[in-house]
Amino acid sequence: MADTIRTTCPYCGVGCGVVAQSGDDGWSVRGDPDHPANFGRLCVKGAALAETIGLEGRLLHPEWGGKPVAWDAALDMVADKFSAAVAEHGPDSVAFYVSGQLLTEDYYVANKLMKGFIGSGNIDTNSRLCMSSTVAGHVRAFGSDTVPGCYEDIEQADLVVLVGSNAAWCHPVIFQRLLAEKTRRPELRIVVVDPRRTATAECADLHLALRPGSDAILFNGLLAHLKGEEAEVECGVPLDQIVTFFSWFAETEKTVTLWSQGINQSSSGTDKVDAIINCHLQTGRIGRPGMGPFSLTGQPNAMGGREVGGLANMLAAHMGFDEASIDRVGRFWDSPRVATKPGLKAVDLFKAVKDGRIKALWVMATNPAVSLPEADLVRDAMAACDFVVLSDCEADTDSARLAHLRLPALAWGEKDGTVTNSERRISRQRPFLAPPGEAKPDWWIMSQVARRMGFGAAFAYESAADIFAEHCRLTAFENGGSRDLDLGGLIGVDYEALAPIQWPVRRPGEGTARMFGNGRFYHPDGKARMIAVEPRRPAAVADEALPLILNTGRSRDQWHTMTRTGRSPRLAAHAPEPVLSIHPADAIRFGLTDNGLARLGGRRASAVLRVALDAGLRRGEVFAPIHWTDRTASGAVVGMLIDAAVDPYSGQPELKHAPVMVEPYAAG
Ligand code: SF4
Repeated sequence: MADTIRTTCPYCGVGCGVVAQSGDDGWSVRGDPDHPANFGRLCVKGAALAETIGLEGRLLHPEWGGKPVAWDAALDMVADKFSAAVAEHGPDSVAFYVSGQLLTEDYYVANKLMKGFIGSGNIDTNSRLCMSSTVAGHVRAFGSDTVPGCYEDIEQADLVVLVGSNAAWCHPVIFQRLLAEKTRRPELRIVVVDPRRTATAECADLHLALRPGSDAILFNGLLAHLKGEEAEVECGVPLDQIVTFFSWFAETEKTVTLWSQGINQSSSGTDKVDAIINCHLQTGRIGRPGMGPFSLTGQPNAMGGREVGGLANMLAAHMGFDEASIDRVGRFWDSPRVATKPGLKAVDLFKAVKDGRIKALWVMATNPAVSLPEADLVRDAMAACDFVVLSDCEADTDSARLAHLRLPALAWGEKDGTVTNSERRISRQRPFLAPPGEAKPDWWIMSQVARRMGFGAAFAYESAADIFAEHCRLTAFENGGSRDLDLGGLIGVDYEALAPIQWPVRRPGEGTARMFGNGRFYHPDGKARMIAVEPRRPAAVADEALPLILNTGRSRDQWHTMTRTGRSPRLAAHAPEPVLSIHPADAIRFGLTDNGLARLGGRRASAVLRVALDAGLRRGEVFAPIHWTDRTASGAVVGMLIDAAVDPYSGQPELKHAPVMVEPYAAG
């Protein structure tokens, strides 16, 4: 194996290029100076990647009931259990729950097996928790799930508005690029819309600390202002700040509005997305340099999953479940039983597991027993399911403990494939480490199961390159260069020689930085849609018993449930334990002291966290990080405190707004 490998960071949707280099002290990593997402930069998580590649805690062999089992027996078991469930109860009695950590090729095979050959739409992904409201908002506004712009727009803008995005911590390299431009051009204005005074808000020219959930009121008011109408904007922000924001937005042609989970993770997330997009459509600020609405995706390959049908409501290659698409995919895959309707979205999928409708569940590279709302009920569901198989690189996640069968998958640095970042840029993840133990690529594991289920000819892949080539062919299959090709086409993209490139690729080597600059959208009449948004309050409200509102999010130096970042002492040093941030006045009200312990209680569960006073929070609101679990900190599973209210269009859960109580906690 070469001693210098170009690959892509496995954490966030910025999708930074990484150079891994072998030396006397093992492997080191640095930012890839030639990668257009980061031009050599890395954040602290990316810079610590080399500290996380050891084999401690790895799942290295298939295990049944905690005992090693041969691959052949394990694969036979999965095929038998899934086939038996389908034969007895029908195709909708089985489900896959997958992950934005999977590579596009893994996603493609998972989707093809479930939707194309088992014949059910029941494959959903943890990206449902991340950006599905943006997908739904894009489709309503543009007629397609398309991010209009590129990272360069952020540097070319004169006004950058960040809404519900702590990019300084969650998309750090994008934020570094923005701050570098602000240093070069101090007249570039930054507005942050966020209930909390985050690290991002600290750098803003204007911070609107709005009432949680009132984003649509703010952007509806902005839309009215842009149309020359009066509007009442009651969102908890002083009027002079609103006037300033509205006038800056109205007078600045080159405006980019970035958003992330503060918008998406809401029971009205799709409407909030469209309330933002409306303001860009009204002003024509889309698809041209330095302007546009821009969603930042959370995971490294949330976008890749969107391209190949990783969401239950998409078929493949950006196609939905219309008759023509079902027919087209069926003929391309040579499958007689393509699913004809969307499957269950994440929250509903686990409800179906709990009530026994799902008899066999396959979880890939994710930890739903922590990350989903009502995580305690998700655990009950997995424990009650007839058959749970989990493929992952980690041996001892909270979800792995609930699986009957565990299958060892390759990890970052070992696996080979592609990912797509927030600006539609496809990059390679390349291996530089030998596969440990008996670990295998996810696509290989699924293909082997598919062959045993009798679908062999369609899953005769020898490599990730084979799968990528098939995905590219599907984007061009029988669409005659029409809107579908324009939407997600990958023409002449060569896997082995792949340099980072933005889809659609209409001609070999020609990616597309911006979409919609010609004023043509993907609705049949070619026009975009402005969506009338009626603002709605969050689903759950505080009451006497649960008088505070819990907001959740990331710590700066951790990722998801810390299965990788938790291995780095350097990263752990920033926040060694879960911390509950609370306004000093609320701390006094509830008898809490800085650095003391607090019990944070919801309707069904509670967690114990260290208290940190934070005057940057609004009164009545607390904040807790999502990363710690009962595996890493006793009882600190924040997902158990959150009700499973979802957005009606996207199915995305409201992970940022849960009524809670707090009280001092005395250990012992
Ligand atoms: Fe990795 Fe995101 Fe950091 Fe880039 S910004 S190094 S992709 S975690």
